[in-house]
Amino acid sequence: MSGASVDAIVIGAGAGGGIVAAELAQAGLRVALLDRGRNFTVADADDNELTGSHALYNQTGVQRFGPDATEFQTFRGDPGTPASKVYADDYRFSLVGWCVGGGTVSYQGLSWRFHQKTFRLKSLYGSIPGSTVEDWPITYDDLEPYYEKAEYELGICGEASPVGPQRRKPYPMRPLDDDREAQLLFPAARRLGWKPFHPPLAVTSEEYRGRPGCIRCSYCIGYLCEVEAKSSTAVTVIPQALKTGLCTLHAQAVVREITVDGRGRPNGWSMIRRQSPKGGTAENFSESWEGTRWKAFSAIRITNVARQAGRFWDFRARPDWDALRGSRSRSTFNRAHDINDLFITNDG
Ligand SMILES: Cc1cc2nc3c(=O)[nH]c(=O)nc-3n(C[C@H](O)[C@H](O)[C@H](O)COP(=O)(O)OP(=O)(O)OC[C@H]3O[C@@H](n4cnc5c(N)ncnc54)[C@H](O)[C@@H]3O)c2cc1C
Ligand code: SF4
Repeated sequence: MSGASVDAIVIGAGAGGGIVAAELAQAGLRVALLDRGRNFTVADADDNELTGSHALYNQTGVQRFGPDATEFQTFRGDPGTPASKVYADDYRFSLVGWCVGGGTVSYQGLSWRFHQKTFRLKSLYGSIPGSTVEDWPITYDDLEPYYEKAEYELGICGEASPVGPQRRKPYPMRPLDDDREAQLLFPAARRLGWKPFHPPLAVTSEEYRGRPGCIRCSYCIGYLCEVEAKSSTAVTVIPQALKTGLCTLHAQAVVREITVDGRGRPNGWSMIRRQSPKGGTAENFSESWEGTRWKAFSAIRITNVARQAGRFWDFRARPDWDALRGSRSRSTFNRAHDINDLFITNDG
């Protein structure tokens, strides 16, 4: 790999990196796409709650989709508490997917668009003490074509929310067929005057661009899809990038450092190529790819500069309707139906 000539290096083949690599390669650029995690295939799906899950009860002792237990993050419960080290086998370690496809491999695929109002919260509601709420510099209308493109490229099924933003086109696929919970929930909710609907999911409800429809297995959130029906970047845009012949994928390549020149511009990097997901033999590299035009796509850097990284934690709890699930239901996929009659607004 040393001395290979590429136009762009994309570090992290997750949701964002996978899409960026595909866009660059399809535009004719030579791309190296690196990810610290493994490149799983359907053969790695083992339908076993004790070994196949992302959850911490996974008996392999590590989170299925990484990281290994030697990795740590810092965590503080509140601003007055000193930060403590939290290792990957601690429940407080944030849920991440460190593999090709990133979080989209083990996620549940809820694929919401932001509401028009979300782009101008400060104008609508004013400053909130202790927060840094700002209006976006762009509007929903600016972003709408890109939402649409992503929904069609990845493959999203579902219906628009009754209180959701306007859309030019429907989702590319119909919703999943109603299961027992939906058959109970929908008529009951409608009797109450509520508006149940099928939320957007990154899942195929029917054959889509060569991938089969979802088989409604019992292992979705936290698991690798055994039929490639979950529309992760690993089975959608990353294969498209590789198909161009201009993108090379380097799995288990952990980038440790990006070096900079005297003017602060990136000029090189170093990585460790892991031989095993749990660590094992590691090999150090220190190299530059000749001819690389260094451009940083760096949300983290931007948030650090703005002193925002790590300050906020967006946690959403949602009620569920477990009571509707009887012993006959073995579905763990309970996100195919929703009630969403309110948007945060207090202005009607
Ligand atoms: C279980 C679960 C359920 C979720 N459910 C939903 C949902 O329903 N809807 C939704 O919108 N979102 C959901 N998410 C969140 C969503 O997956 C993430 O927001 C999204 O994947 C983030 O995209 P990203 O590109 O920023 O990072 P990621 O997708 O996490 O990709 C980052 C990639 O970078 C790699 N990487 C990191 N450091 C290095 C390094 N030093 N060197 C090389 N590679 C590196 C990682 O291995 C990873 O593959 C869920 C996430 C999880 C884990
Ligand atoms: S529920 Fe469907 S999309 Fe989810 S893992 Fe199973 S087959 Fe794949």
